Amino acid sequence: MDFNFRRGKTKEIVKTPVILTVFISLNIMAHLVAGAVNEAVSFSVKLTVNSVLASYFLFQLKRAQRIDDLTQLLTIKEFLRRLDRDLAIKDNLCVVSIDMLLFRNINFSYGYEKGDQILAQLASRMKSFLSKTEYATRSYGDKFYLLLNRDDKELTTSIKELSRILNHPYLLNDNKFYIRTRVAYCYYTEEKSVEELILKASLAMSSFKESDNFNIQQYESWMQKERREQVKIIERLYKAVEESRFDVYFQPILNIKDKEIVALEALVRWFDPILGTVPPDKFINIAEELELISQIGEIVQRKVFEIKRRWKDENFKYMNMKVFINLSPIELREKSLVNRLEKIDPVLQSQIGFEITEDYFIESSNEWRTTLNMIKNLDICLSLDDFGTRYSSFEYLKDLPIDYLKLDRTFILNIDDNKNYNIVKFVISMCHSLGIKVIAEGVEHENIYKTLKELECDFVQGYYFHKPMSIENIEKL
Ligand code: C2E
Ligand code: MG
Ligand code: MG
Repeated sequence: MDFNFRRGKTKEIVKTPVILTVFISLNIMAHLVAGAVNEAVSFSVKLTVNSVLASYFLFQLKRAQRIDDLTQLLTIKEFLRRLDRDLAIKDNLCVVSIDMLLFRNINFSYGYEKGDQILAQLASRMKSFLSKTEYATRSYGDKFYLLLNRDDKELTTSIKELSRILNHPYLLNDNKFYIRTRVAYCYYTEEKSVEELILKASLAMSSFKESDNFNIQQYESWMQKERREQVKIIERLYKAVEESRFDVYFQPILNIKDKEIVALEALVRWFDPILGTVPPDKFINIAEELELISQIGEIVQRKVFEIKRRWKDENFKYMNMKVFINLSPIELREKSLVNRLEKIDPVLQSQIGFEITEDYFIESSNEWRTTLNMIKNLDICLSLDDFGTRYSSFEYLKDLPIDYLKLDRTFILNIDDNKNYNIVKFVISMCHSLGIKVIAEGVEHENIYKTLKELECDFVQGYYFHKPMSIENIEKL
């Protein structure tokens, strides 16, 4: 909103002196005429001038309510008014939402004026794309909405064309600016409400994933379903944390040579009385965003420590087995983690490990280095999880105090493919030369196991051997 406010003001400040100058000159002229002719004529001239100016101001005011000063597109208020009118009388309507990626970088690097000029160019390209019955608005900053009135058969082609037009480089004083836009849209079906259409187009916009390479997204019903599900998860998650309603399952990690179980990975489980079983992939991210993850992590760690202590007391066969616990980047930022770990028995410390992902290190802060070193000083080992899914930067392998690397399932799934085979071979041999042991996760078939064995991978984990199990089932193994 601040963008509109700032821009509106600038233009008005420029316009006002011009209008005042015209106003004053016309009044002076009226007085001169008054001297030469008579009072009555002068009065009528003044009255005419004043009423012309009043109508001009009124016209400007009304126009400002309908037209955005910077882009010459409709104001959001006018856009919504027309959309409401058209919904009642027209078919084939489609609301398009447009976002500009990293546009603020242009503002920050070249100043707001250049940014404004690009926005104005973008708006003029939109206008050239629109037909007579279509219109557009800038809702705020670099966010736009368009109303298209086209047959659904030509819609996909039209949207692609719009995206192409908007992504074409922008020229300002012989400098080329490259802007990437995202286009999301919702085609009118049975919705007769402005709110519903705008909401769905916006929902499609916010459903772009960070990793998406595509810049066009149509609204689909799963988006709303997913959001509703998330709302329910959020509601129940607070309660689950409050009541410590989490359990821990364990999945065996095996020595590749003799298939002997040598370690376990602890995986959180949430059985909610209303939602049923909620898989970690559905709630871990949410818990991170809500900053509930540290409390969940603490529950998991407490349960693991309790089991390990009990096994030791009972002299159980797995009493010395290493247990890997997944750690979220947020937990690493908190001092309470190291404080808690420092308090546990040194033997127990040496029998646990943490699985961390590359997400920790992409953040600019270097605090995690200190925390990781503190953890390592307690003789707790570290494993780099999900290698092969994100950036998989080799720099981390050199830099991080890790003992294990976990090759992600997606990485080894197509190991039959020659290229994949060679990559896995290379990663394993490089890890070995750095003193890092390799665990392959998600091994589902014997042929993958055999290939990994041939490549001298150290450990394996996956459904082919064991699924994650409750503690009771682990104890029966
Ligand atoms: P992860 O740490 O990479 O764990 C491996 C995931 O792959 C587990 O899913 C496991 O059940 C699954 N898996 C194991 N073998 C196979 C296989 O052969 N095939 C297939 N398709 N899947 C296999 P799960 O338990 O659903 O956990 C998902 C993710 O949630 C974990 O991925 C981890 O990132 C996160 N997570 C789980 N527990 C915790 C926790 O206590 N704390 C934190 N911060 N994250 C956790
Ligand atoms: Mg893991
Ligand atoms: Mg993993």
